[in-house]
Amino acid sequence: MSYNLPAVAAGLVAAQQADSLDPVAHYRDQFVIVDPNIVYFDGNSLGRMPKQTAAHLHHVIHTEWSDGLIRGWGRGWYEAPARIGDKIGQLLGAAPGQVLACDSTSVNLYKLVMAALQARPDRTDIVSDALNFPSDLYIMQGAIAHYGNRHQLRLVASRDNELTVTPDDLYALITPQTAVVVLSHVTFKSGFIYDMQAITQKAHAVGALVIWDLSHSAGAVPMALDAWQVDMVVGCGYKFLNGGPGAPAFLYINKSIQDQVESPIWGWFGQKAPFAFDLQYEPAPGLARFLAGTPPMLSLSAVESAVDMLNQVGMPAIRAKSVAITEYMIALFDAHLVDLGFTLGSPRDAGIRGSHVSIRHPLGYQINQALIAEMQVIPDFREPDNLRLGLSPLTTSFAEVWHGVDRIRHAVSQGLHHKYPATRAAVT
Ligand SMILES: *Cc1c(COP(=O)(O)O)cnc(C)c1O
Repeated sequence: MSYNLPAVAAGLVAAQQADSLDPVAHYRDQFVIVDPNIVYFDGNSLGRMPKQTAAHLHHVIHTEWSDGLIRGWGRGWYEAPARIGDKIGQLLGAAPGQVLACDSTSVNLYKLVMAALQARPDRTDIVSDALNFPSDLYIMQGAIAHYGNRHQLRLVASRDNELTVTPDDLYALITPQTAVVVLSHVTFKSGFIYDMQAITQKAHAVGALVIWDLSHSAGAVPMALDAWQVDMVVGCGYKFLNGGPGAPAFLYINKSIQDQVESPIWGWFGQKAPFAFDLQYEPAPGLARFLAGTPPMLSLSAVESAVDMLNQVGMPAIRAKSVAITEYMIALFDAHLVDLGFTLGSPRDAGIRGSHVSIRHPLGYQINQALIAEMQVIPDFREPDNLRLGLSPLTTSFAEVWHGVDRIRHAVSQGLHHKYPATRAAVT
């Protein structure tokens, strides 16, 4: 599937025409869009709500819970983390039995980093990068502290001002001392995509494990976890998976290593026989040992209906749209924003770019505030100067991209941002 990009010089009309030809455009109607004038560039931080999620939650609340009561656990709730995990796995190239929908991304990463360090007891290094999401780095630091500071965190830096990482710089850190390599598949500021397969091979060549964080790629960028022999992943439920604010996250553990790794959290849902109520913990065989406690069924239900929709569309169609709208965004950026002092904060090569486009400006923080307060554009801001424009393949239209850039140009050329404070708020 390929798209003809709208001609930039032809303006909004060309964008609207591209929408009329877009084979996945009708999915936008399957989401609740309360105010169509809002340009929503933050689906990479909180995806929109699918209409079927509202209907499904209504059913879960009024039928499964209100009427079914505790019988719900025997009618599908108990299996929900594995069932929904398998559905997420379809988006990731993972066969059933390897993905669980559970806990938050941070908690899942903690479980997996602790497990990886335990599985490589003689090794001293965790390798990651300075582009990683800070929570991921904190989790690694915490795991190191829990094991008595026997390990060091080795971070590869970016050579091009936080855009990308040079593979050789990373490979130089992956040595026989490496216990685990922990990276975000798509980096949260620039949207740079790592070569998951090549890096996984490099890690395996020295006997190290890999953990990929798919928070910014699941539901936006295709991958083949099984074929690439990835060890473990974590990822987020509320970004491109559209599972709702604070949605349960997921984890994947390759079948081949499931019985070799142990969760640091020994809860009853990870016990061999939870309802035997044995006094002594024994891990469940396989993946289930990475569950801890009772799953949050209301939240999980929202993830399930959203993931069902993504599976209907399929990753190839989702990726094709994602590439088309990010390419169009960059073409508009070149034509309309460069002369206002913006620089591109994302790779130009679509092959190494996820579904958000970062644009950088020294006054980016103030511009972000002006866009939200006055222009009905919702991006987000990431230090020190990134305006992240998240383009959600199923909900962002070409016309929305056009309006967004037009309004950014208007705001900055009119100087609307100058009246906003540079002092950072608690939540950006
Ligand atoms: C969004 C994101 C998270 C979020 O973690 P939570 O535990 O859900 O707060 C973690 N890692 C990365 C790379 C992210 O992008």
